[in-house]
Amino acid sequence: MEEINTFVSHLECSYTGKTYPADQLHGLSEAGKPLLVRYDLEALGKAICKEDLQERLPEFWRYREFLPVRKSENVVRLGEVMTPILPAEKLQNDYECGEILIKDEGRLPTGSFKARGIALAVAMAKELGVKRMAMPTNGNAGAALAAYCSAADIETFVFCPEDTPKVNIEEIAFQGAKTFLANGYITDCGRIVGGGVEAVNWFDTSTLKEPYRIEGKKTMGLELAEQLDWQLPDVILYPTGGGTGLIGMWKAFNELEAIGWIDSKRPRMVAVQAEGCAPIVKAFEEGTRHAEPWKDASTIASGIRVPAAVGDFLILDAVRESKGFAVAVSDDAINEAHKECASREGILLCPEGAATLAALKQELKTGRIKSDEQVMLFNCATGLKYPMQSSHHMIDLNQEIDYDFIANC
Ligand SMILES: *Cc1c(COP(=O)(O)O)cnc(C)c1O
Repeated sequence: MEEINTFVSHLECSYTGKTYPADQLHGLSEAGKPLLVRYDLEALGKAICKEDLQERLPEFWRYREFLPVRKSENVVRLGEVMTPILPAEKLQNDYECGEILIKDEGRLPTGSFKARGIALAVAMAKELGVKRMAMPTNGNAGAALAAYCSAADIETFVFCPEDTPKVNIEEIAFQGAKTFLANGYITDCGRIVGGGVEAVNWFDTSTLKEPYRIEGKKTMGLELAEQLDWQLPDVILYPTGGGTGLIGMWKAFNELEAIGWIDSKRPRMVAVQAEGCAPIVKAFEEGTRHAEPWKDASTIASGIRVPAAVGDFLILDAVRESKGFAVAVSDDAINEAHKECASREGILLCPEGAATLAALKQELKTGRIKSDEQVMLFNCATGLKYPMQSSHHMIDLNQEIDYDFIANC
C-alpha cells in the first residue's frame, strides 16, 4: 500500500486550542466545538512547490499534501473534477460592476460541493476503521455520503426532514443509504443521529461534528487560488448554512499564506443567507460571536436552511477578520436572480447559488460591494436538482401548426 506524503501534526479545538492526537477517531472537542486539523506547514512548504501541481490530475486530490489521508488505498474516487470558474460578462455589463466570476461546483460527483467534504470524511473514516456512518441532511450532503460510503463499503444511515426535496431523498436511497424522513427540522434529525452513536455504534458525520469535512471544503480555497494564478478575488460571496465552505476556504488561505504561496491580500468573505433563516446575519449585525438558533426557519434555498450552526463563531470570526459582512436576501430576490442568470448567461444555478447573485445585486446598490471589485460567487450544486419557474406553450397536433404564433411568442 502506498503511503501519501502527509504533514498532519495534530488536531486542535477551534475554541480552546486544546490539542488532540491525529490518527484517532474524533468527534467534537471536550468543549463541544469543532476540531481543526493542523499540519507541519514548514515541512509541507518544503515538500512541494506550485509547479509540482501542474503535473497532477485535475481533481482535488492534487492537493494531497494539504489533506489528512495517509494511505492512497483509502482515497475513494468518483471523478472529483476541478470545477470551472465561469465569467458572467453579460450580468457584469447589466450591473455596471467589476468582474463577476461563478465557481460552478455543480460539476462534482453527486452534483454538489458536498462531495468535497464527504470524500474526505469517508476516506478518513475508512482509514480509521469506521464501519457505519450516519448523518442528518437537507439533501446534498446525504447524497454525497450515500455515494461515497457505497463506494467505500461503509454502511450508511441518512435522516432528512420530511420536506426535503424528493429528488434528494430518492438519490440518497438509490445510492445505497438507509434513508429515513422525520417530521421535524434538520436539528431534530441531528438529535436522532447523536443518540445512535451509543445505541447502535455509528459514526456521527453531522456538519463540523467530525474534523475532516472542513479539510475537503478547504480544497475550494486551494483550487480557486491556483486557478486565479494565486491572486485571490476582492470579494467571495458564499451561501452559508453550516458554514463549512467559508471556514474551510479561510483555513486554506491561512495555510497558503503561511507557506508563502499567496501574499497577505485576502478577499472579503461575505456570508449570504436567506431572510427566512438568517442566524449568522443577525449575530453579525448584533456584534456577537455566537448566533442564536433561528425559529421557524423557512426558505426555498434548502441548503442554507440551517437554524443553528456548531461552527457559528468560526464563520463570524472569518467574516470579521476578512472585513466582510453577512447579508440576507429574500426568496423573491433569489427567484429573480435564478431566472436572470439562466436566461441571460445560460448558467443554471441552484437556489443557494442564486442567493449569492441576489446578494451581489443588493450590495452593489448599498455600496458595500464597490463597482470595481472582482467578485466570486459560489454555485454549490447543479441547478438540475431543483424546481425551475418556467413558461412554455402547448401545441395541439390536431390543428395546423401556427408558425407565426411560434415565431412571435
Ligand atoms: C450544504 C449546502 C450549502 C451550505 O454549505 P455550508 O458550507 O454547509 O454552509 C449551500 N448550498 C447548497 C446547495 C448546499 O448543499
